[in-house]
Amino acid sequence: MPEKITAAVLNAAPGRLELETLLIDEPETNEVRIRVAYAGLCHSDLHEIDGTFETEVPILLGHEAVGIVEKVGATVEQFVPGDRVVTCVSAFCGYCLYCTSGHLTLCVNRHGLSHNRARPRLLNAAGAAVRPTAGLGAFAEAMVVHQNALVAIPASVRLDTASILGCAVTTGIGAVVHGADVRAGSTVAVIGTGGVGIAAIQGARLAGASRVIAVDVVPEKLDAALRFGATDVVDAREGSPVERVIVMTQGGVDYSFEAVGSAATVEQAFAMLVPRGVATVIGMVPGNQPIRIGGAELFLQEKRLQGSFMGSNQFKTDIPRYIALNDQGRLALDEMVTSRVDLADINDGFERLAKGQDIRIVAKVSDEL
Ligand SMILES: [Zn+2]
Ligand SMILES: [Zn+2]
Repeated sequence: MPEKITAAVLNAAPGRLELETLLIDEPETNEVRIRVAYAGLCHSDLHEIDGTFETEVPILLGHEAVGIVEKVGATVEQFVPGDRVVTCVSAFCGYCLYCTSGHLTLCVNRHGLSHNRARPRLLNAAGAAVRPTAGLGAFAEAMVVHQNALVAIPASVRLDTASILGCAVTTGIGAVVHGADVRAGSTVAVIGTGGVGIAAIQGARLAGASRVIAVDVVPEKLDAALRFGATDVVDAREGSPVERVIVMTQGGVDYSFEAVGSAATVEQAFAMLVPRGVATVIGMVPGNQPIRIGGAELFLQEKRLQGSFMGSNQFKTDIPRYIALNDQGRLALDEMVTSRVDLADINDGFERLAKGQDIRIVAKVSDEL
């Protein structure tokens, strides 16, 4: 039977999230129903709320969730009720060209996995379908999710911490270890020190980078970057960060990461590389922003500019490994959650997020978990 749940829905964009009662469908054969404990607030949610990215309403946002499995579909073998699970945007089919070559984030069937279904997952009081973002929709008491968008997690990790594993942590660390394959001893710069940038800084520290330079425009975030493993900071309000990084490193960095999502910072990331250096774009650069780089730097200096979507992750193996590293004190994931709000106050959380001083804000969804 469909069940009534409370959810924070976006009914107009730009707009605010509105708490309302939805009907959530039973899981289909390959789906899992989860009782949500916490859901992370991501910049990509904010961009849909504030209208930066076009979206179709009504939509249930939220893609970083942790919760407890309540019910599984008939063909689900990986999960049983009671499992603690984390959701990830990069659902994968497991049989396309990209999945079978290990590049799950590029799965060509992801959209269908997330959205093709006999009935809508969610209905509002007017009987209209509410689309769960990426087939997830975490700002709600319960979710019905494809089994290949979930990973089970051990009890060693805190639930609020676990809610940031599916996006921020996986994206930032994955860009370093999968996307760029940073080598021990190399030099790294990370532009943008929000949740994803801080995760990239931790990834670079873990990979053994000899220098990790954090670049941002918010002094408090640069202070935080030092606590998470940055060796140097550059306040980009005090002149060209490219020149500063080149002077600091006597020529540039081996790897740069762009975690802001603008053409200007991508150009900076490329400009601050040494010959043979690799710049990796993690941020969501709008599709209509052209990036201007010097062509000669590509062929004369063999510099590379690449993207890493969702940290080029293999989340079913990555996330348990990141939790093991957190258990051992080699990643500081608990400290990345800097604010918590109740689901009822989620708009306050997004206002905080827009101010840009938090690393990650999470919404507490269910009290009893
Ligand atoms: Zn996200
Ligand atoms: Zn696939």
